[in-house]
Amino acid sequence: MELTIEKLSKRYPNGVQALSDVTLRIPTGLFGLLGPNGAGKSTLMRTIATLQEADSGSVTLGDLDVLRDKNAVRRILGYLPQEFGLYPKVTAFHLLDHLASLKGITPRRHRREVVNALLQKVNLYDVRHQRLGSYSGGMKQRFGIAQALIGDPRLIIVDEPTAGLDPEERVRFHNLLGEIGEQVVVILSTHIVEDVSELCRQMAIIHRGKVVAQGDPNRLADELNGRVWSKTVVKQELPQLQASCQVLSTHLRTGRTVVHVLADSPPDSSFETVEPELKDVYFAAIRGFTPAKVELAS
Ligand code: ADP
Repeated sequence: MELTIEKLSKRYPNGVQALSDVTLRIPTGLFGLLGPNGAGKSTLMRTIATLQEADSGSVTLGDLDVLRDKNAVRRILGYLPQEFGLYPKVTAFHLLDHLASLKGITPRRHRREVVNALLQKVNLYDVRHQRLGSYSGGMKQRFGIAQALIGDPRLIIVDEPTAGLDPEERVRFHNLLGEIGEQVVVILSTHIVEDVSELCRQMAIIHRGKVVAQGDPNRLADELNGRVWSKTVVKQELPQLQASCQVLSTHLRTGRTVVHVLADSPPDSSFETVEPELKDVYFAAIRGFTPAKVELAS
C-alpha cells in the first residue's frame, strides 16, 4: 500500500501559499518529511490527517480517497500532532483507556489489555498511574506515540516529535519509531536532518510549500559525491566566499569555522573534498543550488 499525494495545493486566507503542487509517493515504512520551519510540513500533515481542507489536488491511500472519505481515514489513522495537549491531572492509563474507548475498543477487559500492551511498548507501564503533568518531555512524546498506535493504524503521522527532547530521549523515541511495522505508512515530519538520516529509507525535502528533493537519503547524498568541498576559515573570509561560491553551510568546530561548498571542482587548492551527508543535500535543496537541483530532480 502506498500513500499518493498528487498536486496538492493550499493557500491560507492571509495569502500564504503553504503548499504548491506537492506530489509525493510514500511507500510503507518510515518516510521522512524534512523542511525548515514554515516550509508547509504541518499543513501537509494536517491535510492528510483530515483536519483541514486543501484547495486542490488529491491524496489516496491504496483505494481510499483520503480527502473525501474522512471517516474511513480516521479509523485507520494514528496521529501525533505538533502541539499535543495532555490533561495534566489524568494518569497515563486513564487517558489512554479513554482514547481507546473513543476509538471503538469497547469490551472493557480487552481494552485494558490493549492499553497495558501499548504502555509496555512505549516503556511507560511502570509509571502508568502517574499523572501526565509529572511526565518529562520524552515521556509525553512516548505517550503520544502510544495514543497514535491505538487500534493498529495503517497510516501514522508524527509531526516534529523530537524537537525539545534531550539526546537520550531522542534515541529512545527513534527506537520506538523504528519498531513500528514495515507494513504501515509512517510519516515523520521534522526539521532535524539527523532524525531522517538515522531512521528513514525514503524521504522528501519540502521548502516554501514545494517538494525540492525526494528519494533514498543515502542515494541523494551519493549524488553529490565529489562535489562537496570543505575548508576551515577565519570569520572574515566568509563574506567573500559566500559571494563567490555556493556555500552549503558554515559551522563552528572547536572555535573555528568549517565551511561546506558545492562545486564541480575545488574553488581553490586549499579545499578538500568530503563525503557528502544528508545535511549537504538538505542545504543544497533549500538554497536552490543549481548543480544539486538538476541532479536531485532527475
Ligand atoms: P511547518 O510545519 O513546516 O513549520 P506550516 O505548515 O506550519 O509549516 O506553515 C507553512 C506556512 O503557512 C507558514 O508560512 C505559516 O506561517 C503559514 N500558516 C500555517 N498555518 C496557517 C494558518 N492557519 N493561517 C495562515 N497561515 C498559516
